Amino acid sequence: MKILSVNAGSSSLKFQVYEMPEEKVLMKGTFERVGLDHAFYTIKYNGEKVIKEVPLQDHEAAVHILVEELLAYHIVEDFDEIKGVGHRVVHGGDTYASSVIINDHVLETVEALSDLAPLHNPANLTGIKAFEKAIPGVHQVACFDTAFHQTLEEERYLYAVPPEWHAEYNIRKYGFHGMSHKYVSERVNELLDKKYSNVIVCHLGNGASISAVRDGRSVDTSMGFTPNAGLVMGSRSGDIDYSMIPFLIKKTGKTIEEIDTILNKKSGMLAISGISSDFRDIESKIAEKNKQAILAHHIYVNSVVGYIAKYYVELGGADAICFTAGIGENSSHVRRMIVDRLSCLGLKLDREKNEEMRFGKEGTITKEDSSVPCFVIPTDEEVMIARDTYALLV
Ligand code: AMP
Repeated sequence: MKILSVNAGSSSLKFQVYEMPEEKVLMKGTFERVGLDHAFYTIKYNGEKVIKEVPLQDHEAAVHILVEELLAYHIVEDFDEIKGVGHRVVHGGDTYASSVIINDHVLETVEALSDLAPLHNPANLTGIKAFEKAIPGVHQVACFDTAFHQTLEEERYLYAVPPEWHAEYNIRKYGFHGMSHKYVSERVNELLDKKYSNVIVCHLGNGASISAVRDGRSVDTSMGFTPNAGLVMGSRSGDIDYSMIPFLIKKTGKTIEEIDTILNKKSGMLAISGISSDFRDIESKIAEKNKQAILAHHIYVNSVVGYIAKYYVELGGADAICFTAGIGENSSHVRRMIVDRLSCLGLKLDREKNEEMRFGKEGTITKEDSSVPCFVIPTDEEVMIARDTYALLV
């Protein structure tokens, strides 16, 4: 049975075609610069990579090419063979605690939730509508980034603000990266050979969040009402004292929108390092003993260690700590700084294993006698989308 896993962004569309339930990737690809000049797409099939430059006026044009390529590569001979298309949808609010089959009501709800995710939900909807046009009647499923964290209890998701803000405006902690936190927390249970466990998942990518997961349920997570809360990220500040906002508006004369953009796009590692939001660029400057790059690293590590320690206490101890996403999977340097800082809890890094565990490898990076084993687990949000889509449609 063939299932497509789709992640539509404002100017991109990523896809993977799976044979399910085997979870075999038959083809994958990315459409980039959709709606912009010099658009192109990349297809990976049978170990080969093809890049083509084509005009892509909108997502519909991208999906049209995608389905034509499925025929051209004989992934399918007929569109009937595609049993479902699963979409990553960023915000499901408190309406969706799991993935759902898309119907008109779901579309309306996702549209209404665009208020909470103005940059993401409209782009996700564009992808869904483009597939409806390209393969009329195909079953589609929405997989929400927020759904996994709907298990948070009131005492964790409510902010200490007037309750009518929650009642009237849905102000609460939602949490994001849910498909990744779910994948990693399930995978580590397989590696631990345990059904019940306390796990701390560190999704350290350009966007970053940490979650505390007990027996497969998210108990707490570092992102909040929006993805801007929590950890220091590539270009986002993470947690700040909100009072700096009115103060800065008065001092700089900037508008609230301008300050918001700075906190979102010009802060975090980019601002402190003065180099880049990309960790690789910053790490290469650390080798040259660049002071700002070193400072940025320390601030980053402090922020990650703080959340791990908090969740260790919230969970009453942990069976595993997992690192995933671009930085978590690849930066042995940052992992070493983090785990060394946690030595007060009895964590013991195995330096050799830590260096080995990069570029898609999965395994432990701690010594046998570490109080808590730490794992590197490459995340796979796409397969989670395919799994949920398959489970709902079979
Ligand atoms: P993601 O959002 O998961 O794609 O992660 C992107 C981040 O991972 C960027 O900051 C990259 O610089 C970082 N990253 C990717 N590869 C490496 C690497 N080999 N070493 C350090 N950071 C990396």
